[in-house]
Amino acid sequence: MHGNRDRPSLTGHFVQFAGRRLGRALARLLAKLLVWSAPVWVPVVLALVAVTLIFSAMPQSGALGGAQPGDADPAIRQAAESAVAEVNAAETWLNSPDGSREHLGQLADAYGRDAQLVLKWSDIYTPLLARALATGEDTDLFSRPEAYGQRLQELARRFGPRFEYYPSTVVITDAEGNSEEYAVYLLRRSDTLAGTYEYQYERVTDQYPDGSSRTYDRPAGQRLVSQSYERLDAWIGENIDPKDADMTRRMILEASRAFDTRKEWVDWMLSRYSSAFWASGAMVPSELVPLFQEAEEKYGIPWWFLAAVAFTESSFNPLAENPSTGCYGLMQVAPANWQEYAPQLGFDVQADRDNPRAQILLGAFLLKSYFGSVDWNADDWRDQTLRGLTFYGGFRTNGEIDAAAMERCRNEYAGKIWELADAFRGTGTGGTWPVPGHTQITSYFGWRVHPITGERKFHEGIDIAAPEGAPVAAVAGGMATVNPDAGGYGMLVTITDGVHEYRYAHLSGFTVQSGQVVKAGEQIGLVGSTGASTGPHLHFEVRVNGQPVDPLPLLRPGGEHE
Ligand SMILES: [Zn+2]
Repeated sequence: MHGNRDRPSLTGHFVQFAGRRLGRALARLLAKLLVWSAPVWVPVVLALVAVTLIFSAMPQSGALGGAQPGDADPAIRQAAESAVAEVNAAETWLNSPDGSREHLGQLADAYGRDAQLVLKWSDIYTPLLARALATGEDTDLFSRPEAYGQRLQELARRFGPRFEYYPSTVVITDAEGNSEEYAVYLLRRSDTLAGTYEYQYERVTDQYPDGSSRTYDRPAGQRLVSQSYERLDAWIGENIDPKDADMTRRMILEASRAFDTRKEWVDWMLSRYSSAFWASGAMVPSELVPLFQEAEEKYGIPWWFLAAVAFTESSFNPLAENPSTGCYGLMQVAPANWQEYAPQLGFDVQADRDNPRAQILLGAFLLKSYFGSVDWNADDWRDQTLRGLTFYGGFRTNGEIDAAAMERCRNEYAGKIWELADAFRGTGTGGTWPVPGHTQITSYFGWRVHPITGERKFHEGIDIAAPEGAPVAAVAGGMATVNPDAGGYGMLVTITDGVHEYRYAHLSGFTVQSGQVVKAGEQIGLVGSTGASTGPHLHFEVRVNGQPVDPLPLLRPGGEHE
């Protein structure tokens, strides 16, 4: 249940859309705070309104092009961005079972979760702005580039993340029983602005229809092992006001997390192109699939429906937060529900807040309680879920579910979920194979240590052997961008689905254009050997939050899509 939430028209330009939405959220907060009238709030709120105005003018994700830069001072953002870039991969450590410990100097989690947790430029900019306006000190800070540059760097070093990894292996076995093994690094512990988390795994083997299998470490949960936002709270205590740390933290985080670019992208995409055309189960992050399946087993709601709710609510971001309602996580569970039901389901209110498994199971539990029983094989399963979705999506009118509320829910929320659910159900999990008929992988994703020099090399994708001119197909639908000369990638097609960015490299020709929306399985180009390549092959790469992740978990070996 979400309470009142903003549901602005999706047709507006997405940047202004985000700015307006946040503006309204802050205006409401401002009204609340003025009622409480703690003196420190007024300037903090003003600071955050300023942040809003600045954010609302910011150019967003390059994936879209088209967005025009506003009047915001690009130099401040640039200084903050380079300050965080310096610290984000600085503390990355590989801990081997033999007790040795090595510095990596780059993000390395094969599931890309570290990239989601890194310090954002706004995480250091917003606190400094809030401090200047709350204390009246340094109010001209942002007019002195040298001074703010230094302050941003100091804060980046103080807030910078620390990631600990362990080396794991993935074993691929073909139908004849021949095995190949490759190395990946997985997150064991993260110490970030949000707090310190520890990650658990289980060793599992997935069997594929063609008789092959894949054995790997699958994420099995994560737990907060410190106070949340410890470092931010300490900074607020020293720099703003220890008495008001709670509220100041909330305000800073709300302004700082104003944007979830993935979510904005998805809303933009869904408002223009029917997801029935381009969406597919490949969008569901591979590490979440078993969690949706577990929830299906427990609560009888199909994985494809739960995934559609999660995508609509959070675009699969376990850290997504609605600033006006406090709804949190993959399923955007309201704080009151989380408090009440997390312990009932065996989770800890604090430690499991960011745990994807806890979020999905709790969301499914709530949906089940609103739905009662649904016949998912009946033709009218959509209508059977409308009443429950009206409740879950917060569309009640004065607490009542009336015809008008259900109609609004159908138009603004349920319709989108149903369309996505249909797309996921129809395509199954995982993507189509990128070079139909050619399944030989000549180089896997991950880390190689040179046997003699000991030099560590990282392969950011997989290489698939195929002859020049063989058709290349989109693994998942989305929006295409073509680049005829992308350096080492050669001729490159990039496709974005709002969760992943897929790169198809070394092509010899394109069969799509930039800005074209393609669906899974559609031909996009031809295999070649352009760029840094020694012979015809496809280099296929998948990125999440800009970081390469192992592509194999989201592909089905054996060639054809089912
Ligand atoms: Zn490659």
